[in-house]
Amino acid sequence: MLIDSFGRQITYLRISVTDRCNFRCVYCMPPQGVPYVPHERIMRYEEIAALVAVAARLGIRKVRITGGEPLVRADLPRLVQMISAIEEIEDISLTTNGILLEKYAGALAQAGLKRVNVSLDTLNAEKFTKITRGGNLENVLRGIAAAEVCGLTPIKINTVIMRGINDDELVDLAKLTLKHTWNLRFIELMPIENQQSWGEGFPPPEQIFMPVSEVMALLQPLGLEPAILENDSGPARPYRLKGGMGTVGFISPLTEQHFCQRCNRIRLTADGHLRPCLMSGLEIPVLPALRAGKPIESLLEEALQKKPAGHQLASHISPNGRCMIQIGG
Ligand code: SAM
Ligand code: SF4
Repeated sequence: MLIDSFGRQITYLRISVTDRCNFRCVYCMPPQGVPYVPHERIMRYEEIAALVAVAARLGIRKVRITGGEPLVRADLPRLVQMISAIEEIEDISLTTNGILLEKYAGALAQAGLKRVNVSLDTLNAEKFTKITRGGNLENVLRGIAAAEVCGLTPIKINTVIMRGINDDELVDLAKLTLKHTWNLRFIELMPIENQQSWGEGFPPPEQIFMPVSEVMALLQPLGLEPAILENDSGPARPYRLKGGMGTVGFISPLTEQHFCQRCNRIRLTADGHLRPCLMSGLEIPVLPALRAGKPIESLLEEALQKKPAGHQLASHISPNGRCMIQIGG
């Protein structure tokens, strides 16, 4: 078992497979983009799978693939297949912006992927293009439908809460769960390298944060009630609207006092760093050891021992200059 120095059991590994993306979401990266890591410094699939095999022997049971946009990396189903062949791994899922999901959902499901999380912050096509700096809403909705047809369910939808941008739509977004079996999750905006202007037509970044409590208040008239999700140890607190087929969850890293106490995960960046906490700059390079054929157990254990008790987001301490796209969310 992997237990960190605060007694938390770590069973979940989030793997970023690329720092590249076909969107440029306003909260995730600056308008000019970020310099890409050269290909030779990005972990190869064989290296990722080798690391997962060791981590699984030590106690990792769930893997999530993320990015950047994971589906821009060539032949992602091959990696999914390699990871699902590792006996101890019980669950493998993917977080995606959905734009390429229609194309890849079938191959991903066949390779052993269990579920997808799709990011969706608005139902307004024009606004969607603005938030993502170029994305197309229709393609994403088709991607979600394809994932459902292929059985990559239950579908989770990630919605970042943004005052003055999508707060007028949060009720409509939640109402999607009346007709769909989706688990929609409202996520508090994290101040990670996104405190500069988001560009024309957006409020100043310091005005955009809106706490989960306000969203819950907006949804109370729809009969919001606590729900139970099977096999769920994620950060979202699940609820259901009266008569809802799906659920509405709330992820509040900034306003939930004990958020970090429930943390069960570590991360691997696309350039091969173990990152014990999303919101701490602390990283342990693992790629040199892997490439030199050295054992990596001690590096995983070091990551666990160094995992901090919690984040310092309230003090606007940003993790070592990496944007969210370079960490994986
Ligand atoms: N490209 C994929 C996607 O968009 O789903 C995967 C990577 S993305 C970094 C992972 C998740 O992080 C997305 O759901 C995105 O909305 C969320 N995210 C990015 N920046 C964020 C921020 N500053 N605060 C909260 N969530 C953020
Ligand atoms: Fe790309 Fe996802 Fe970041 Fe948007 S949130 S820029 S889709 S990595």
